[in-house]
Amino acid sequence: MEPILFLAHTEPDRSLSKQAMEALSAAIALGGEITVGLVGAATNQIGNCGASRFLAVEGDAFTQPRYATDAAAVEALARASGAALIIAPHTSRWARAIPGAAMRLNGRVDTHATGIQVVNEVPAVTRWFYRQRMEAVLTRSQRPWFVLLESGCAPAWSGAPADPAFERIAVDVKPRTTVTGVRAPQSGEQTIRPDAKLLFVAGAGWTKKQADGATHADKAEELILGFLRASQASLGGSKSLVDLSGEGQSVLTCMTHLNQVGQTGSTPRHPKGLATCCHGEEPHVVGWRFINERRAINLDANCGWARGKADILYVADAFAVMDEVNRRLSG
Ligand SMILES: Cc1cc2nc3c(=O)[nH]c(=O)nc-3n(C[C@H](O)[C@H](O)[C@H](O)COP(=O)(O)OP(=O)(O)OC[C@H]3O[C@@H](n4cnc5c(N)ncnc54)[C@H](O)[C@@H]3O)c2cc1C
Repeated sequence: MEPILFLAHTEPDRSLSKQAMEALSAAIALGGEITVGLVGAATNQIGNCGASRFLAVEGDAFTQPRYATDAAAVEALARASGAALIIAPHTSRWARAIPGAAMRLNGRVDTHATGIQVVNEVPAVTRWFYRQRMEAVLTRSQRPWFVLLESGCAPAWSGAPADPAFERIAVDVKPRTTVTGVRAPQSGEQTIRPDAKLLFVAGAGWTKKQADGATHADKAEELILGFLRASQASLGGSKSLVDLSGEGQSVLTCMTHLNQVGQTGSTPRHPKGLATCCHGEEPHVVGWRFINERRAINLDANCGWARGKADILYVADAFAVMDEVNRRLSG
């Protein structure tokens, strides 16, 4: 097996994320000689992972996500390690910086990889194409080859911390950009939880006129947030629902475009999913392909979910069902 560099950036608290630990265990499973390369802080968290070398690029400039400093740090670590294969977690920070670093090294990068294993004695990456409709296994002859692994595709490495001898790699880069803070689109409470056991999807029906001829967006939001708090489920939305704010209709303030599931949204991975007030049209359900057990609540017995897309369809009023579910969860 070719020499491997496991490349990760530390979080603001100097720790490594769970996703980084997953990428580390995927790298170890390949069986090659591993070098650890850290950007940000030389944490002792993975000192026992069995790597032969530990490299770090440290300093205030490298604790912040910034293309110029991240790409320079990645390039320096890749050169210092001499690795042919570089495995990193697919974080938004790495997705921005690593392709540029790969270019500088005349290497190649594959993003959104869902697995890497040795096939016929060479590393092979698994990746989905065409919005998760086709899965490919691919190899590359060019080196260095950067592979960015998606979260949830490997068990997270766990082990006792230890203090390895870090080699500090100096990187001479003068950033012209200052990070003054983070402005995230989701200003309310956190509703997207990639590690949750359940995906709870809300559709546009929550904002439509109900049996009494009126809309009840406030009640809908209260029921949805109450359920999310009690169950720690992750919140998804249909396109129709997340688009409503642009149409001046009554909206759920907890919902943004980041929550959208489907063909033009995300394809989250959770063991179970519950769709509520959502019709279950193909462009939406295509985002459910990694949800193992699917249930839906809809007033319409002929909705899309009824046509083989859900394991169980409850033909019922989602307001009444979720009210009762929340009552039982709080009891
Ligand atoms: C190119 C393209 C890409 C698209 N990409 C996406 C995508 O990524 N994601 C996506 O979601 N959509 C996508 N769409 C849109 C998709 O086709 C549907 O229009 C959309 O998913 C419908 O959203 P909805 O089910 O929430 O709303 P609606 O179709 O309005 O359905 C609302 C449902 O709520 C039910 N309902 C109402 N009140 C209640 C109640 N009290 N209890 C229970 N049920 C109730 C109704 O019976 C109805 O079935 C795309 C479309 C196109 C053309």
